[in-house]
Amino acid sequence: MNGAIASFSNSFASLPAHFFIRQQPTPVAKPRLLMFNRPLAEDIGFASNGFDDATLATILGGNVLPPGAEPISMAYAGHQFGTFVPQLGDGRAILLGEVLDRSGTRRDIQLKGSGRTPFSRRGDGRAALGPVLREYLVSEAMHALGIPTTRALAAVATGEPVYRDGEAIPGAILTRVAAGHVRVGTFEYFAARGNNSALRQLADYVLDRHYPAARDAERPYLALLKVVAERQASLVARWMSVGFIHGVMNTDNMAVSGETIDFGPCAFMEAYDPATRFSAIDQFGRYCFGNQPNAAHWNIARFAEALLPIIDPDAKRAVELAEEVVAAFPGWFDSAWLAGMRAKLGLVTAQDGDLELAQALLDIMAAQQTDFTLTFRRLCNAALAVNDVSGPRALFPEPGAYDHWILAWRSRLASEARHPEVCAQSMRKVNPAFIPRNHRVEQALNAAIERDDFAPFAELFSVLSRPFDEQIDKMPYAAPALPDERVSRTFCGT
Ligand code: AMP
Ligand code: MG
Repeated sequence: MNGAIASFSNSFASLPAHFFIRQQPTPVAKPRLLMFNRPLAEDIGFASNGFDDATLATILGGNVLPPGAEPISMAYAGHQFGTFVPQLGDGRAILLGEVLDRSGTRRDIQLKGSGRTPFSRRGDGRAALGPVLREYLVSEAMHALGIPTTRALAAVATGEPVYRDGEAIPGAILTRVAAGHVRVGTFEYFAARGNNSALRQLADYVLDRHYPAARDAERPYLALLKVVAERQASLVARWMSVGFIHGVMNTDNMAVSGETIDFGPCAFMEAYDPATRFSAIDQFGRYCFGNQPNAAHWNIARFAEALLPIIDPDAKRAVELAEEVVAAFPGWFDSAWLAGMRAKLGLVTAQDGDLELAQALLDIMAAQQTDFTLTFRRLCNAALAVNDVSGPRALFPEPGAYDHWILAWRSRLASEARHPEVCAQSMRKVNPAFIPRNHRVEQALNAAIERDDFAPFAELFSVLSRPFDEQIDKMPYAAPALPDERVSRTFCGT
């Protein structure tokens, strides 16, 4: 029996015409449903049970529009690796519309890879299977880690090839679910055109949709800058707490909703090193692990610049007000980061010296290249037993510095007098055992692409859906890559 599909609305399509271009998805030859996220579909009221795969594939492949959909491609600009590009826009994405989730919140439903749009420039408007599966897996893993992110509803094979680097590879479409798709680059688009009334309309739209409390502030657009900056500070601190490297933190890839968006060449760090970068296009390490807070700060400064004309009619006053917010960003990031580190170290109170304690461990890890995830996960065991048999000691080739550090940590823990079991439990809720390790991701994608074998992908996906649970039978997934398995570069595959 067929279920019913939710009726769509599209609040963005009610904005003035120059905010977007109406664009139908281009039908594909043979849509086949590869992945469908049923729990998410239910949460967002997308489709009731009983919907058959073939019908879902025709809708999520872009061949049939769901009721109420008003497909559009959104206009935006962006700073890419520091260089301003006045027009980017959805070159291969089409926003079908919005559905209301269980809590009554609007969620965008977007097809990515659904054909050319007026923003495609030289691109084909399509996506290759590998990057689609990668975003599906990593965005859902981020969600399971408790990090704000866009979600993946479906992956559909198009039955058509796409051509990348002269090679024909299978094409696919991702259905992305987001709190909203307005980016810092959307504001830059109108700012670059000197269109202040459009800027105001966009800001009002974002305030209404995401930050209604800020609407009542004395200066709502300054309040918008502040709340977006605070969300980004907190988001990037969350990334840093699990070793996530976004890889393309251009302003067009920064959502003002505060969700992680646009999973291209993203990857998780293994051995701790702030200079870690995977993205093949990030030649100079602008978006390397340790530079992410600076990159976010830089992007927020671009956001502030875009908002200047609507912050205050007096240009000088607008700059003063905006600068104050931008200057506060590093402090917001630092406190969010330190709060995250305290939790990782099992500390519930804030004491002087905590920052130095956390930094000292990271310095030793950097010097000895220990695995970021495994070190913190094993530290949870060290909270329980003083002999450190199952703790992180064995990960350090020269454990002297670590032995010294652990004494300081134990004495700091003792100052809180929490039961060791309670402490270890709380640490296990923030220090994941399982992250999407690059070699595992690669293995799963290769099996799917080369052999049409989705079993490794399904197993990895299932392991990553419970990253904080022990999952004793899945321990190989917790292990870092062996030297010959290591993946050192990732590609965005567009
Ligand atoms: P990204 O680096 O994926 O965030 O994309 C940057 C810009 O390039 C955006 O405007 C995308 O819509 C556009 N783009 C990326 N890949 C394609 C493609 N295959 N076809 C058309 N436009 C694309
Ligand atoms: Mg993008």
